[in-house]
Amino acid sequence: MKVGLAVCLSVLMTAGPVMAQAKTGKTPAADKAKKRTGRGKGPNAKGEQKKPADDKAAADKPADAKTGNEPAKDAPKQPAFKKSKKVTITWLGHAAFEIISGEGTRVLIDPFLKNNPATPEAKKDLAQYKPKAILVTHSHGDHLGDAVEIAKASGAPIVGDYDMVSGLKLKDDRKMGGNVGGKMVFDDVEVHIVPAVHGSQPGGRPVGYVLKFKTGQVLYHTGDTWIFSDMALINEIHKPTILLMNCGGGPYTQDPATCGLAMKKYFKKAKAIVPMHFGTFPPLATEADVQKALKKQKKKLKLMKPGDTIQL
Ligand SMILES: [Zn+2]
Repeated sequence: MKVGLAVCLSVLMTAGPVMAQAKTGKTPAADKAKKRTGRGKGPNAKGEQKKPADDKAAADKPADAKTGNEPAKDAPKQPAFKKSKKVTITWLGHAAFEIISGEGTRVLIDPFLKNNPATPEAKKDLAQYKPKAILVTHSHGDHLGDAVEIAKASGAPIVGDYDMVSGLKLKDDRKMGGNVGGKMVFDDVEVHIVPAVHGSQPGGRPVGYVLKFKTGQVLYHTGDTWIFSDMALINEIHKPTILLMNCGGGPYTQDPATCGLAMKKYFKKAKAIVPMHFGTFPPLATEADVQKALKKQKKKLKLMKPGDTIQL
């Protein structure tokens, strides 16, 4: 319980200066704010400039110890990728996923890995990750996780709520802030930012992501949200075919039964449902809880174990 609380409630960063334009993808609307406010003057929601509250914690992170961008020589190599019509999804434990598009574009979501008890050892070596973008749903430690260290090592930008991303101690080209309704493009993957009902303090608001692939799949990572009726709009606008849905329960998020209700009520046409955010810590729902609550979704249910890879 203590571990779960500590991780779920800890927040690594707060908002601060500098809004960046990423090297890849279309310019986010929020970049206009940079022009208005000037370099290093990114405003928060109240128009004030915040200072990182936890600079020391950030500075103490191992990422800052090795500032070079080159991965370790003995880092695990990514497997060779062949173009495919399928999307490759690897569950790294909790809410962390690596997604690979049909053309080989790699995207990480919520890469909480090194201190994630659910992440297999082989997946904890951050040097193996070569993402085009790192999507973070909110600032809590079990989601922002190792994103900063991976961004420094790989050169990929962190995508997230503008206020959260602004506060990260990263170079401009490794931050890509947006907000609900925004779209960014990374090669053959479109990323849309959608709402989520949760917390993200300090440092912005929580979001979810819809990823649209040229091969037709539409993947929705819900973040830590509770069920909310605007899920109907997410379904109407984006028509997700693959759901990575929070079913974690405990004191933090919706329980598996509510997760099942969201699937039934709002995403009838989704073809695959991957539950996540369960089983990581004792207060969270177990795999058995999830299986029981989602038995009516049996045909669509893709119950993964951390480290598993599926193609859809
Ligand atoms: Zn969480």
